[in-house]
Amino acid sequence: MGPPGAGKGTQGALLARRHGIPRYATGDLLREARREGTALGREAQRYMNAGELVPDDVILGMMREKLSSEEADGGFLLDGFPRTVAQVEGLDALLSDLGREIDAIVSLEVADEEIVRRLSSRRVCAECGRVASAGAECHELCQDCGNGLKRRADDEPETVRRRLEVYREETAPVLEWYERSDTPVRKVCGGGSVEDVQARIIEAMAS
Ligand SMILES: [Zn+2]
Repeated sequence: MGPPGAGKGTQGALLARRHGIPRYATGDLLREARREGTALGREAQRYMNAGELVPDDVILGMMREKLSSEEADGGFLLDGFPRTVAQVEGLDALLSDLGREIDAIVSLEVADEEIVRRLSSRRVCAECGRVASAGAECHELCQDCGNGLKRRADDEPETVRRRLEVYREETAPVLEWYERSDTPVRKVCGGGSVEDVQARIIEAMAS
């Protein structure tokens, strides 16, 4: 878990590779289901076409398919999910149904102003959507397709502060839910280099 810009995707990918397990993020599952045109993917598409949020039962249906698949036999990593108490309760029911459990929650902690700094300096290619890597704000053109880079409207400082408020309102109860459960919650400082943060996560999970 962690707010937008905390480095969940980067850290999750490294950790999943280290353990040789799949990483599941809601956005990736939605894109994959739409691309493959599965029944759940088509259902999700209908909500998105109507400009509505995809309901939790559709997302949980996609999670069920993944968590009961062979590739998840040796474990799995959930990236940024569950994010609301309703999703926690749905996931909890799904896991007990599958006879599986979560070993640990890692919560990446990053100060709001650091997130604002990170996201507002992020640049995205207007053409291919590639997110320029950290420190790439000095480049003016996409390194993939050569088109211009720009800041996403979502990454404007004021918008980032509002996204952080929404995130904290939604996820504070999620962390409280897990803190009351048997699942250990490890709060890890998400500041510093990618390598430093990964080392902290590995250490926190070993304890
Ligand atoms: Zn590009």
